[in-house]
Amino acid sequence: MRKLIGSLKYRDLRYTKNHPLRIPRVSLLMEFLRAMDLIEEDEIIESREAHQEELLLYHKEDYIRALQEADACMCVKRQHRERYNIGTYENPVSPAMWKGSLLATGSSIQAAEVFLKGGIAFNPAGGMHHAYPDRANGFCFINDPAITIEFLKRQGIKRILYIDLDAHHCDAIQDYYYEDDSVFVLSLHQSPEYAFPFKSGFLEEMGRGRGKGFNMNVPLPKGTKDRDYLYALEESLRIVKEIFQPEVYVLQLGTDTLREDYLSKLELSNAGFLRAFDMVREAFGEGIYIGGGGYHPIALVRAWAVLWCRITGREIPTEIKPTAKEVLLKVDFEEFDDDEDKSYMYNRLLDELNDEPVKQEVKSLMEKVRSYFLV
Ligand SMILES: [Zn+2]
Repeated sequence: MRKLIGSLKYRDLRYTKNHPLRIPRVSLLMEFLRAMDLIEEDEIIESREAHQEELLLYHKEDYIRALQEADACMCVKRQHRERYNIGTYENPVSPAMWKGSLLATGSSIQAAEVFLKGGIAFNPAGGMHHAYPDRANGFCFINDPAITIEFLKRQGIKRILYIDLDAHHCDAIQDYYYEDDSVFVLSLHQSPEYAFPFKSGFLEEMGRGRGKGFNMNVPLPKGTKDRDYLYALEESLRIVKEIFQPEVYVLQLGTDTLREDYLSKLELSNAGFLRAFDMVREAFGEGIYIGGGGYHPIALVRAWAVLWCRITGREIPTEIKPTAKEVLLKVDFEEFDDDEDKSYMYNRLLDELNDEPVKQEVKSLMEKVRSYFLV
């Protein structure tokens, strides 16, 4: 049982104009996979909304109420803006805020349920790792990964590994599990020295109290390419395996690590992204797969499409079919950086792995990580 948890309802649940997340993502992926003949209808589970009690596994009730209120009028009170960080440029009031988040969160729980029944599922709408229990942050309103982890805990699971491959540090997840030794948090991301969330994601943040040694940050330099990234990931997975034996893992698969993504300075090809996914599975078997950041819709769809092929054991086609190309060409998205010819993205599905050797900086970083975690 290999399932995509998705819905075309996301088409109408968009962020406001000019927001990086205004772009189509899940609906575009579904349309693209259909046009490529890479998905059967019975492989799709229609997303459901999260229930109130599921939201309260992690979020504070007053914050949830504020989101509901803002959704009802598509407006926000000044005190709520200040207190809950909603109705800002970063976290605008829009149909995505409440209804979109409810669907994305319900879908992550659906993915966990499929997994617990012995199947494998991918919820591309999930991975909103920046949302705090009582406030929005970094485009995220409802923290579906944390809710999924809490859901798993209530199913009696004692050791959960959370792996976050988004280009940004999972600050809210780290905070929530910082003193918890039953949830190991591993995050590879752009160093907060130069990227959001700026204040957290440093190597030195290793957990506190019982949770000390159960939080691993791998802050990567600008210009990290395939081999750098895969080296860092392989090393971190090796270290985590020596420390923690999870019963289940949740894998956040943001695509903002891709070189075409204008919101990050990491430079992965989608072949590197796919290899990273393979590495995690080689280390820990199958897990619960959720999406994450990703602001270039075409790059995102290509990466999640090859990922979907891998999840379902399909061969990855080399070429993008003309009908599927049409789907991509219809996306209303303007490139910020027009210097480079990006037409390959509309013709070829899988990139080539970049061959540049691992940077010394990354090797030294991983030596440091090892020395911090393993004596
Ligand atoms: Zn991100």
